[in-house]
Amino acid sequence: MIVDEILVLKEIKYKENDKILHALSKTRGKIQLLSKGCKKNNSHLINASQLFAYSKCSMVKSKDMYIITSAELIDSFYNLKNNIDAFFYGNYILELINYVAQENECDYRIFDMTVAVLSWFSVTTKDFEKLTAAYELKLISMLGYKPNLKRCLSCGKEIKSDSEFSIKEGGLFCHKCVNYGRGINVSYGEILTMERILKSKLENIGSVEVNTKLLQLIRNFLFYYIGKNDFTTLKLLKI
Ligand SMILES: [Zn+2]
Repeated sequence: MIVDEILVLKEIKYKENDKILHALSKTRGKIQLLSKGCKKNNSHLINASQLFAYSKCSMVKSKDMYIITSAELIDSFYNLKNNIDAFFYGNYILELINYVAQENECDYRIFDMTVAVLSWFSVTTKDFEKLTAAYELKLISMLGYKPNLKRCLSCGKEIKSDSEFSIKEGGLFCHKCVNYGRGINVSYGEILTMERILKSKLENIGSVEVNTKLLQLIRNFLFYYIGKNDFTTLKLLKI
């Protein structure tokens, strides 16, 4: 018997009463689970087998899938469904992590952060863009592509003023070295904001000012390194 915490990223109808769930697990990376009979009204698995459900599951392994034997719901982030912004941004987070997460490759920090951002979305009525950007920047850093914001990538001088941010090189170039790293002009304030996001917990992001340019820069940075930019849920957010 295996026990793990899981977050449901996708549900697929299977047979009459079952579902196959794609989930992020805390210690096993992305997994697929068979939830037997969960579509019956009296099923003890009904709540844990919904999109966004965060639960503690007991399961057994069968070939390349897990079969849920029991589940204890920790949070369903119910309020996500009452706020259209929260719902769309929440769906984007699921789509993003579903793409990024790999089987048998786990990082509990990514799991905890994903649960934390959904938890914030379900209690707040604002800051969705900012929280999402913070999630994106922290995520790409946890995946090993943390941008170098301290020193010029070319001469090594400490960055203390406006610079050039190169997505491709993953960091900054000072004014003297600007020809080596063609990128996007960023003010020193914007650089400090990115540092602050990386150091702050999600619950403290509300006090950080993040402008539209920075939101876009962070997203472009993430998309460049994960190699995907056509998330279905983002198209819905642009309407
Ligand atoms: Zn330099």
